[in-house]
Amino acid sequence: LEVIGAVEPRVAEATRQELADQRSSLKLIASENYASPAVLLTMGTWFSDKYAEGTVGHRFYAGCQNVDTVEALAAEHARELFGAEYAYAQPHSGIDANLVAFWSILAHRVEAPALEKLGAKNVNELTEADWESLRHDLGNQRLLGMSLDAGGHLTHGFRPNISGKMFHQQQYGTDPATGLLDYDVVAAKAREFKPLVLVAGYSAYPRRVDFAKMREIADEVGATLMVDMAHFAGLVAGKVFTGDEDPVPHAHIVTTTTHKSLRGPRGGLVLATEEYAPSVDRGCPMVLGGPLSHVMAAKAVALAEARQPEFRTYAQDVADNAKSLAEGFLTRDATLVTGGTDNHIVLLDVSSFGLTGRQAESALLEAGVVTNRNSVPSDANGAWYTSGIRFGTPALTTRGFGATEFDRVAELVVEVLRNTEPTTTSKGEPSKASYKLADGVADRVRAASAEM
Ligand code: PLP
Repeated sequence: LEVIGAVEPRVAEATRQELADQRSSLKLIASENYASPAVLLTMGTWFSDKYAEGTVGHRFYAGCQNVDTVEALAAEHARELFGAEYAYAQPHSGIDANLVAFWSILAHRVEAPALEKLGAKNVNELTEADWESLRHDLGNQRLLGMSLDAGGHLTHGFRPNISGKMFHQQQYGTDPATGLLDYDVVAAKAREFKPLVLVAGYSAYPRRVDFAKMREIADEVGATLMVDMAHFAGLVAGKVFTGDEDPVPHAHIVTTTTHKSLRGPRGGLVLATEEYAPSVDRGCPMVLGGPLSHVMAAKAVALAEARQPEFRTYAQDVADNAKSLAEGFLTRDATLVTGGTDNHIVLLDVSSFGLTGRQAESALLEAGVVTNRNSVPSDANGAWYTSGIRFGTPALTTRGFGATEFDRVAELVVEVLRNTEPTTTSKGEPSKASYKLADGVADRVRAASAEM
């Protein structure tokens, strides 16, 4: 910080403050974690200064021998850890990994057969008319993914996102009565819509998914099964999700972030079968710019950590702790979407406290409990104010919290929410954003969490 402060003291101060804040609050954002010092330090090296477009051993720049070493290591660790046929370590983030996956599916299933039919090696050899026809076909494919309010991600075909614009899209939700995925409904939609891509995976669904069933559905309609395991990659790596709950043996392509439950640097990763490997390998420069060499090095370190036996214990603790947190809420009469959890996410419906997600998120933050508001299925308050709060256990499990601490977390959260009231707008109506937390509660909760 001294070195940074000598150049821009305000950055040094914000960095110091960020550490203090992360240490003094309860980090319950389901997509966050605490990466190890080895991972953090690897990101801060001179690999950041190196350009390396292309792939290992096949770069558009000279002098990439050391980047080759770390990228190959990241891919090797990923293949071994997840049992994948092929791994691509370049995506800068989870969204980039999904874009690589989409374009590689289009390249493999639409572009390659068209080129073969026309006897061309690549698109540069096409006539203007053939090129226009191929561009038309690439832009007219279908994608079926989980809807945002059911727990899917923006990139799974949400209309405002590029995935909802580059594909004709439809979405599947969850059963309104149980909040659970209904595979018969997904299958019926797939039969009717006949997507090229079936996306499975989630950001806010507190349950496991049967990927064998998803693959059956994809096979029946001729779709490519793409699983986005950004959230639960750590549970797959730690062998908490095995068999039908492990996406890798079932999906054609699996994408992930590396910074959530996997506890690595911010970044993305694509795993694929041999069949899709050549098109994924063209991610840079087809979709991505030059890879972040320092982050690929840190991915190699994090994936090496995730191959250690301790990571399995960690992953099991993440899942067990989520159950303790859910139990803690249920015994205090709170309402949970799907009635519980069997992964690392707990989704609390805060409407029973008379609050919107926005009010609950702000009141909790005031008390040092860091969460994010989240839609619940068919949310009456929409995607901005929402009716839910999403909790995740990966970060506090890294800090060593166990069942007792997570029960106490539930107690403190409920104490905050019970003591929060919406304030009224100038028209005398209840506000969806402003709130009043009763005096003394924030200090009491902060003091209690400092002792944990
Ligand atoms: N996919 C899923 C399921 C996610 O939950 C997220 C992040 O929230 C992403 C992709 C995007 O990851 P990133 O923010 O690294 O682009």
